[in-house]
Amino acid sequence: MTEIAYISIGSNLNNPQQQVITAVTELNEILNTKVAAVSHWYRTSPMGPQDQPDYINGVAKLETKLSPQQLLKALQTIEDGHFRERKEHWGARTLDLDILLCGNQTIDLPNLQIPHPGITTRNFVLLPLADIGPQLVLPDGTALATLLESCSSKGIVRLSSGDICGTTG
Ligand code: ATP
Ligand code: CA
Ligand code: CA
Ligand code: CA
Repeated sequence: MTEIAYISIGSNLNNPQQQVITAVTELNEILNTKVAAVSHWYRTSPMGPQDQPDYINGVAKLETKLSPQQLLKALQTIEDGHFRERKEHWGARTLDLDILLCGNQTIDLPNLQIPHPGITTRNFVLLPLADIGPQLVLPDGTALATLLESCSSKGIVRLSSGDICGTTG
C-alpha cells in the first residue's frame, strides 16, 4: 500500500541551505519512496538553546510503500550520512528529519510517535506543511487550518527562491 507521509526537514550547521537541498534528493532515493512535493524554505529562530545559528526548515511530501518504522530507519540513515551528532537536546544539528504524519495513522511507541508531538505548536512545521497540504486533517480530526489560526509568525521568515538554490519556491 502506498501511504502519504510528511517529513520535517531542518538544519542549522555546515551550510544549512545545502544540507536541506541534499536531503530532499536523498529522500527521493529511499527505496519504494518518492518525493511528491516540497514546501517553501523558511529561516527560523532556534527552539530551545538560543546560542546556536538560525535554522532552515521545510517539509517534504512523500509517497512511500515503507512502514513508518522502516521510514524512520531510512531517515536516520540519511541523518547519519550528514554526520548528525546527538549531543544537547534541541541543540545545533546538520540535519533533522522528523516524520510529521503518515497517512491517517496514529502511532505511540517509545521510539516513534505519529503525528509528531511538535506538529500542533511549531510554526516552522505548520507553515511549510500548509504550503503543500493546506487541506490536511490530523488523525484526531483537527484541521491544519485550525492549528494555523493560533500559530505565531514570530521568528520565521519565508525565503524566496533567490535566497536558496535548487528550489522552485
Ligand atoms: P523533537 O522530536 O522534539 O523535534 P529532536 O528532533 O531534536 O526533537 P531527535 O534527537 O532528533 O529529537 O530524536 C529523538 C528520537 O525521537 C529519535 O531517536 C526517534 O526515535 C524519536 N522519534 C519519535 N517520533 C518520531 C518521529 N515522528 N519522527 C522522527 N523521530 C521520532
Ligand atoms: Ca525513490
Ligand atoms: Ca525535530
Ligand atoms: Ca528528530
